[in-house]
Amino acid sequence: MVTNTMESIRSWQKERVKEDEITRYLDHGRDFIDDNALETLLARAPGEPEPARVREILAKSLSVKDLSLEEVALLINVRDPDILEEMRETAFKVKLKIYDNRIVTFAPFYLGNYCVNRCTYCGFNSDNREARRRVLDEEAIKAEVVELAGKIGHKRLIAVYGEHPKNDVDYIVRSLETIYSVRVPTRHGHGSIRRVNVNAPPFPVADLKRIGEAGIGTYQVFQETYHRKTYARLHPADTIKGNYRWRLYCMHRSLEAGIDDVGIGALFGLYDWRFELLALVKHSQELEQRLGIGAHTISFPRLVPALNSVITPDWPHLVSDEDFRKIMLVIRLAVPYTGMIITAREKAAIRNEAVRLGITQMDASSRIAIGGYSDHVTGQAEDRQQFILGDTRSLDTLVRDLAAMGHITSFCTAGYRCGRTGKCIMDLLRSGAEGKFCKLNAVLTFQEWLDDFAGEETRRLAQPLIEREVADIRAKNPKALDIFLEYHARIKKGERDLYL
Ligand code: SAM
Ligand code: SF4
Repeated sequence: MVTNTMESIRSWQKERVKEDEITRYLDHGRDFIDDNALETLLARAPGEPEPARVREILAKSLSVKDLSLEEVALLINVRDPDILEEMRETAFKVKLKIYDNRIVTFAPFYLGNYCVNRCTYCGFNSDNREARRRVLDEEAIKAEVVELAGKIGHKRLIAVYGEHPKNDVDYIVRSLETIYSVRVPTRHGHGSIRRVNVNAPPFPVADLKRIGEAGIGTYQVFQETYHRKTYARLHPADTIKGNYRWRLYCMHRSLEAGIDDVGIGALFGLYDWRFELLALVKHSQELEQRLGIGAHTISFPRLVPALNSVITPDWPHLVSDEDFRKIMLVIRLAVPYTGMIITAREKAAIRNEAVRLGITQMDASSRIAIGGYSDHVTGQAEDRQQFILGDTRSLDTLVRDLAAMGHITSFCTAGYRCGRTGKCIMDLLRSGAEGKFCKLNAVLTFQEWLDDFAGEETRRLAQPLIEREVADIRAKNPKALDIFLEYHARIKKGERDLYL
C-alpha cells in the first residue's frame, strides 16, 4: 500500500515538468540569468560611487523610471552614511509619490504542508520526519476563513501550497472557490475574502489557466536563489524543484496563461544578496521586455530558522539588518512602481522601519501553522510551520502602529475586480492616476474595517487620520468627492464592499 502510494507520487512527479514550456523561452539555448555577467557587473562597479552620479540615479527614480542593472549595481555599493540617507529620503518620496501613505494588508493562509521537494532550508521538506502533515478539507478551509474574514477582518489572502498530488491544481481551484464562498456576519455588516493571491509551485500553462480562471489576484513563485550552483546545492536534482529553469520561467507561463499580475522573489540569505538583487531586477526587466508586463510585486523574504533546516548560524550568506535595509531601498529605487511585500518573517521593529523605506504591503495576525487560525494556536507550532515567525502582532495592533506613523491600512481589493491589472495597472501607477482610485478605496475599506473589527483605542486613534484623508480628497480629487462621500455614508450605515 505504502509502496503503491510512493510509486504513484513518483510517477506524478515525473510528469510535472514540460520541457517545451521551458525551451520555447530560451534564447539560443540560454536563459536570461547570466551568472558571469551579473558577477562582472558587481565586480566592475567602483568602490564608493561618485555622489553626483548617485544623485542623477535618484532623480531618475523620482521621475518613476526603471533603473538599469549598471545603476542598480552602483547603488548597491553606496556606503557613505550621508548618501545612504539621501537614498532613504528618495525611496520614501518615491513610495509616497506612487502609493501615498497607504499600506495594503493581507494574511498568509497555508492550506497544506505535504511536499515532494526537499529544499534544505524549509520545514515542509519531505525529509523532515518531525513535520506533522495535513491538508485542509472544505470544512477546515471554511473554519479558517471564518476566523480570517469574520473575526480578524482580512479581505485579502495569500494562499500557500506545497508541491504534492494532494495540493494539485484541482485542489487549488476547489480551495479557492471555497475561500471565496464564505460570508460571515460582523458587528455592522459582513466579512468575506475578496482577493486571494497564490504562492504555489510552478505549474504548466494549462494548469495556470485554470488557476487564473478561479479568480486569483497575483501568482507568486520565488526563485529562492538565482545563483545556479547554490540552487543546485539546496534543491536536490532528483526533485521537481531541482529544475532551475522550470521555476525560472513560471512567470513567463503565468503571463501567457492570462494571469497578468505576477510576483517574483528571492529568499535572501541563501547566496550573496547583491547578486540576488541584480537578478531580481533582471527578472522583472525580462518579463517586461518579453511579455510586456513586469513583476507586479517583489518579495524579499529573509531566511529564518525552520525545523531541521540545514541553515546554521554560520551560513556564509545570512543578511544583516543593515544590508536588509539596503535591499529594500535599492528595490524601491530600481522599480519605483512595483509593489514590495515584507512579511511577518521579520521582527516588528524592522517592519516598522520598512514603511519608510518604500514597502507597500504587510501581513498581520499571521498564523502559518496549518489550521492555525481556527485552532487558535498561541505561540508558534514549530512542527506545523514552514518556519518561525518574527512578528506576531495582531492586525488591530499593526493598524494602530501604522496610524501612529501617519499611514492608513488599505483593505482595497478593487484593482483586479475592476480589471485594473497587468499592463493597465502598471501604466496607471507610472502615470500616478491609479493613486486616485486607491486613495478613495483605501479610505472606504479602512472605514469598513474600523467599524466592523477595530478595538476602541484603534478607532479613536484612526479617526483623525480618516478626517485628514477626507480633507485631502476634497482638496486634490474634487471630481470624485460626491461619489466618495455617498459611498462613505453608505458604509457607515452597514453597506459593504463598495468600491470605485
Ligand atoms: N512550495 C511552494 C514553493 O516552494 O514554491 C510554495 C512556497 S513556500 C511554502 C513559500 C516561500 O517560503 C518559499 O518560496 C521560500 O522562499 C520561503 N521559505 C521557505 N523556507 C524558508 C525559511 N526557512 N525562511 C524564510 N522563508 C522560507
Ligand atoms: Fe516544498 Fe516549497 Fe518548502 Fe520547498 S520551499 S520544501 S517546495 S514547501
